[in-house]
Amino acid sequence: MVNRHPWVYSGAVKKMPQAENGQIVQIVTNNNELLGYGFFSPNSQITCRVFEFCDTPKEINETYWHTKIDLAMQLRKQVIDAKTTTMFRLIHAEGDFFPGLIVDVYNQVAVLQILTKGVELISEYVFNALNALGFNNLYIKTKQNTQLLEGVEQGSRWIGQPAPMPLVALENGVKFNINVETGQKTGFFIDQRDNRYAVGSFSNNCNVLNTFCYSGGFSLYALQNNAKEVHSVDSSKDAIELCNQNVALSGFNNHTSFVADCFDFLKEAPANFYDIIILDPPAFAKNARSVDNASRGYKNLNLLGIKKVKPGGLIFTFSCSQHIDKDLFRKIVFSAAADAKRNVQVLQQLSQPKDHPINIYHPEGEYLKGLLLKVY
Ligand code: SAH
Repeated sequence: MVNRHPWVYSGAVKKMPQAENGQIVQIVTNNNELLGYGFFSPNSQITCRVFEFCDTPKEINETYWHTKIDLAMQLRKQVIDAKTTTMFRLIHAEGDFFPGLIVDVYNQVAVLQILTKGVELISEYVFNALNALGFNNLYIKTKQNTQLLEGVEQGSRWIGQPAPMPLVALENGVKFNINVETGQKTGFFIDQRDNRYAVGSFSNNCNVLNTFCYSGGFSLYALQNNAKEVHSVDSSKDAIELCNQNVALSGFNNHTSFVADCFDFLKEAPANFYDIIILDPPAFAKNARSVDNASRGYKNLNLLGIKKVKPGGLIFTFSCSQHIDKDLFRKIVFSAAADAKRNVQVLQQLSQPKDHPINIYHPEGEYLKGLLLKVY
């Protein structure tokens, strides 16, 4: 608490409040000094999620929530070029001092992930604040495990006027079809924006393999930057369909997509053909218990990538598992490189973009890590 970490574990609480799930509670010390305000979650190990640290009482009213959202918007105006990028994360939960809420925006559409009862109880204020910022179409997308634990209302739904889907949004000037209703996550993996840009900057005249491509984010940047040939692979037919639509939207014909398991695809891929390989799998470690298995998965994947890339080629490798930190990830990639018996340089540590800020007191928020490797 004194370290301003936003999570209060049940074991750390001496006296529980007489409060309902989701209610806003005060956090006080043994000496009755105020520490702040948070959402009460009696059914979670994290009993309270703190959204405000303060030592004098504060009114937590509609204006309070509006101000929080306005501050988040101001940061995005600072870090996003609105002329070329019309989709970004507006609220990154703890990263924006707003535990329990994620908001991604696509043009005028805001997609909300309400992860706790506490946020659900103040959601009217959030809707009003988003409307006031010009987000006219609000869509709530529910996640299954939060409903069970937190009693959050089930079922994805529009609040007010639905927006026609798909819409076309821009990222660094690249066009993407987005369907917030049927797409994975809130519709697009916004968190890879900067890393896609980096891929683009190396793609000229390259053969590029984009594994776990989903809607083809990395592929489009490679194509846009004059790649020779781009291959996209995903095990989901729907994902490949989206990827093909996005390639068609920009009119490229030097692209081939494959519905396949990426491990199998890499095993059978020719060696020395790809100049750039992107490895961006889903989170293999969903919880702390699965870290060992996940580590093996990451190692096998990286081993295959490092074996197959052309000498002098590049690998962009990622993990979005919160439970695998950047040191462990580097060790995993190290052991893959050693098994492949190739010389490998780390050119850059990769992370999440500025619209996914990390609350310095909440290191768990740094979930996306990656490495740019050069392989000889
Ligand atoms: N790189 C993407 C996001 C990847 S999300 C982007 O920039 O948008 C992870 C994707 O991996 C999902 O689309 C999922 O369908 C796919 N996937 C999961 N397991 C897979 C496997 N074993 N082989 C191929 N694709 C897989």
